This record gives sequence, C-alpha cells and structure tokens, in this order.
Amino acid sequence: MKKLLLFTIVLFGPISLYAQEHSHAGGAALTYPDIEGYLTLKTDLHIHTVFSDGNVWPNIRVMEALRDSLDAISLTEHLEYQPHSTDIPHPDRNRAYALALEEAKEHGLLIVPGSEITRSEPVGHSNAVFISDANKLLADTPEKAFGEAKKQAAFVFWNHPAWYAQSPTGNPILSDFQKERIKNGELHGIEVINSIDYAEESLAIALENDLTIMGTSDIHGLIDWDYTEKGNSRPITLVFARERSLKSLREALFDGRTVAVFNELLVGKDTYLVPLLKASIEIRGARYIEDTQVLELWLKNISSSDLLFENQMPFTFYTDPSIFEIAAGATHVLRVKTLKRLPSLQLQLKALGAYTAPKQHPVVEWDIPVEE
Ligand SMILES: [Zn+2]
Ligand SMILES: [Zn+2]
Repeated sequence: MKKLLLFTIVLFGPISLYAQEHSHAGGAALTYPDIEGYLTLKTDLHIHTVFSDGNVWPNIRVMEALRDSLDAISLTEHLEYQPHSTDIPHPDRNRAYALALEEAKEHGLLIVPGSEITRSEPVGHSNAVFISDANKLLADTPEKAFGEAKKQAAFVFWNHPAWYAQSPTGNPILSDFQKERIKNGELHGIEVINSIDYAEESLAIALENDLTIMGTSDIHGLIDWDYTEKGNSRPITLVFARERSLKSLREALFDGRTVAVFNELLVGKDTYLVPLLKASIEIRGARYIEDTQVLELWLKNISSSDLLFENQMPFTFYTDPSIFEIAAGATHVLRVKTLKRLPSLQLQLKALGAYTAPKQHPVVEWDIPVEE
C-alpha cells in the first residue's frame, strides 16, 4: 500500500488517488439507444458469486457491471447449491445482495435482490428477482419456494430451459410444473439466451405463454475471461423502463418490455425490437452523388451490436450486395440506385441478426428526407 502511494505521488503529483472518489469506468462499455417513451436499461439478472458456486466476491460483480456500463444487476445465488459452505457458512442468504449494495451505492448501479431456486428437472432452475428476503425462499418443495416468491411479489423467470444437463435433446420441455406456475402467476419470464447459448424453442415458449424474454450471462468466473477476452460481450437483457429506478425496472419486466442481447443477436417482441433497431441506426446524411440518381446514405450504428441487414426495397445498391453489415459504432455509406431523384426515401431493411419469433426477422423502416 505504501509503495503504491509513493508511486502515485511520483507519477501524478501530490494528490493521492485514494483521496478521490473511486470509479470503475472503462472496459467494454455497452451502449444501446433509448426508444420512444422509454429508457433502455442494460441489465444482467443472473450472476453468481462465492455465496453459491461463483468464484468472486460480490464487489467484483459490481465493478464488472460498471465497466460494462450496465444499469442493473442481480446476484442470484443458488439457494440449494452451496459448494463453498465449509468456508462460507452463509447463514443469511441476503448477504451477497448486501455486499453488492454497499459497493454500488456510490456508483448509481441498481442492485436487484434475487436468488436462484435450484432443482433437478422437470422443475429446473428459476431466478426470483425483486424478492424481499431470500432466506424465506428456502423450502422443502419447489411449490412452496415459488409460492413464497409470489408472496414477496417477485418477478420469476425460468433459467436455461434448454440446458442439456437437464434436457439432453438441448430443447426446453415445458413441464406440468411450469404450466401450473404460469397459470398461478408464479412464472413470468424465460431465458432465451443463457451464457453463450440461444434456444429458439425457448423463444417459442415465451411467445406462446406471454413470458418476458430474458438474456443473461449466468457468470460464475470473470466476465473478462469468460466473455470479453474471447471476443464476446456479456449477454444482457435490455429493459425498456419509464425511469431509471428499481420500481420502473420491475414494472417493465412484468410488462414484457425487453430485448435479449448477445453480441449481434437480438431477440425480442417486435413492439420493442423494431424501435430499438430503428433508433440504433442514425441517419447522418442523405445526398445524391452529383449528376446521378445514386443516393448516398450515411448510416451510423450507435449500438454495441454489429447489425446485419438485407435490402427490402425495390431499389438495388450501387456498392453493396443486398446483404450488408454495419459494425457496432461504425458509419456505413449505403448507395441506393433510386433510378430517378426522390425528395425522400423510405429505407426498408430486414435485420438478419434479430429475431421476433423463431426464424423470423423484423423489417425496419426509416423515412429519410433527401438533402438538396
Ligand atoms: Zn442455473
Ligand atoms: Zn445460475
């Protein structure tokens, strides 16, 4: 500590870094635009620490979330799986939440109290978030655990329904247990993306049962090692909330206002996915090349996902083939052969990395006035 302080003084002058408010900015900050009427909150509501089978202390999870520029996280420790209990007896199951809250309070990161209800199939694993007391979720039957979660007005989602350890075909099986929970208003969401895995069959279940579409990292190790260093971003759920608050976040989850994201994959109901994609492309210019009928569009992708598009217009492109990509953060000049000079163009593109249903991509439209 002393050595480091001396080093600091030499390099940065007499002001010690310890005297300043500490920050955890940097890393792979994720950005997604707001959509009309809502703020876009970046969340990861499935995370583990040493308080179940994860490998890090809760404050590290907060720092990772800040580096990724998330708005909210939940530490969802397995209630029934406690491999570190010899070293960490863990009498209070709210402890990981309390420690995260302490680290987060000066950074404005929202911490959602949560737990993972952990059973073998056909019950499987589910996260209860926005709980008031994790200890009370410890129950001898899963029915009681879900009943208690409902009593605490928790938002509950089914984790990794397609996990091959529990469903060897790699396909989710909606059991009588889950059907009963949905009927009772005790199950409200489903992960369609868990860690690096996407299951379109889980998306089908979400749409058929009106469950909220979720994507989570389910991180046990380090985000940097498991995702960033491998060239991936952590999977997240974008939640469209009226305000940046726990209350608004909870309301939005119950209302199904989400898009699950993993790198260039975006999965959500068209009501939210289409406006998100539309807002993700900013039109930075629209001008005809002099003495031609070739319209140049400057399209900037302001999201953190590379976006793959397919032309849906009657016009063809001058430079690109009908399928082209705009990388995250990049500006692409699209040249459209409109055959005659138009005062405005309705740009119509199908987003091939985005899914509103299994095998179904949304078509996004931008009304673009052409500059003189
Ligand atoms: Zn699990
Ligand atoms: Zn988990």
